Amino acid sequence: MHAAPTHHAAAAHYIPENLPTRIQHFIDGEFVDSVSGKTFDVLDPVSNLSYATAAAGQGEDIDLAVAAATRAFTDGPWPRMLPRARAQVLNRIADAIEAQDARLAELETFDTGLPITQALGQAHRAAENFRFFADLIVAQADDTYSVPGRQINYVNRKPVGVAGLITPWNTPFMLESWKLAPALASGCTVVLKPAEFTPLSASLWAGIFAAAGLPDGVFNLVNGIGEEAGDALVKHPGVPLISFTGETTTGQLIYRNCAANLKGMSMELGGKSPAVVFADADLDAAIDSTLFGVFSLNGERCTAGSRILVERSAYEDFCARFAARAQQIVVGDPHDPKTEVGALVHPEHYAKVMSYVELGKSEGRLLAGGGRPAGLPEGNYVAPTVFADVAPTARIFQEEIFGPVVTITPFDTDAEALELANGVKYGLAAYLWTSNLTRAHTFAHAVEAGMVWLNSHNVRDLRTPFGGVKASGLGHEGGYRSIDFYTDQQAVHISLGVVHTPRFGIR
Ligand code: NAD
Repeated sequence: MHAAPTHHAAAAHYIPENLPTRIQHFIDGEFVDSVSGKTFDVLDPVSNLSYATAAAGQGEDIDLAVAAATRAFTDGPWPRMLPRARAQVLNRIADAIEAQDARLAELETFDTGLPITQALGQAHRAAENFRFFADLIVAQADDTYSVPGRQINYVNRKPVGVAGLITPWNTPFMLESWKLAPALASGCTVVLKPAEFTPLSASLWAGIFAAAGLPDGVFNLVNGIGEEAGDALVKHPGVPLISFTGETTTGQLIYRNCAANLKGMSMELGGKSPAVVFADADLDAAIDSTLFGVFSLNGERCTAGSRILVERSAYEDFCARFAARAQQIVVGDPHDPKTEVGALVHPEHYAKVMSYVELGKSEGRLLAGGGRPAGLPEGNYVAPTVFADVAPTARIFQEEIFGPVVTITPFDTDAEALELANGVKYGLAAYLWTSNLTRAHTFAHAVEAGMVWLNSHNVRDLRTPFGGVKASGLGHEGGYRSIDFYTDQQAVHISLGVVHTPRFGIR
């Protein structure tokens, strides 16, 4: 089958006003260049031209950032402030994010290629993260254990210290907020190393934080390449914990590098999540949801339902309807509000996704897409691509593509569906579509995924655990679990009355 025509929005290239041409670090309350003066080019995904240079942090820049964060932690007010006072700052941060949501979204869209409507939604989610952790830290209660007449034991919760935060390029600002909000709420000071493909929106944090009253040195940002700035942060002995979101292979390397200093780690890694559609499901809803689940955020989404498994009796109908809708998805200028799929983040990533699209033509039956959409000769555009009849041994079934590409595979029984769902190394999310309550819960409990959605795409209450199993991650954040990660729970034991002590050394 030939590549299907894909609708595209106007191919104009919108360039936001007052775009910075130089992106710096932010250390101890100041924007600074790298000590070495090194920089790297930042491209926008529509023209693939460099629009700015960013400071390329090295070990010495990380040293300065960690020193500032350490001073702010040991001498500054932030870790010692009452939770209510910290919460007020966090709420002002949320207000500021909301007040500049349009600017934030246009910069994010320009830098990442995400559709503008979706970037706006992510800006709101970033604000919500700060509000949520502001509330949580005020409501935080810790355990007390009473041993009548003998002891009271209580938990003294303390921020761990300087938190190292390393983030990926997909929805960068929102994912940064996902770490910054609980780390700051907990009283930690931070060094953030954003993804090198997309440093633009992160440069807004400094102004937002300063205006909200966050003391200097609490938030530090070092831009740079992962193997340089990121590596130096991971290996820095003054950083006791690393929160990382990114690829599984990078996580494995960071895990090894954290071992030398026995650092605390939280790892949110890759995914290849199944969306399992049983024949008894509401197929209209399942089609809407599975389309959105894999093609929203350009498919550059860790929780994308990128493997659809469909019960045989509904299979051909599902494939035909799904593919017809995929062909109608509007691909184009990320700044156009009509756009549903924008441009992939970077030419390197585009080349990777396109290589899977080519591979897929020999591993499955192409039902939609299959290459660059018509009418968009430049920019990192990929037509939403659907492969049916994909065997579980296929690489496009097993490997994370992280783009607008989906596989569809039939199954005959619940047991086979479960085997297919679990038959990859990842275990981030799973989406189940059925009207059978028992099957829904039985399957949900058996599927190897950190998060399961029944009859829904990814809609998450911030109190729930977030994270994956198997190669998708280590540790769960979300709600109070994030506060647990950024704090030490010291046990303090108080004796009441006379303590019985075996008396050594008495003859
Ligand atoms: P990546 O692993 O290439 O990079 C992530 C970050 O790590 C970047 O800031 C990078 O500079 C840094 N880094 C790279 N090498 C490093 C090293 N040796 N030491 C320290 N830091 C290093 O990932 P990416 O391509 O930016 O993001 C896409 C990946 O992220 C996908 O696999 C996706 O599934 C995953 N992801 C997971 C979640 C989740 O919550 N599970 C969320 C979003 C993205």
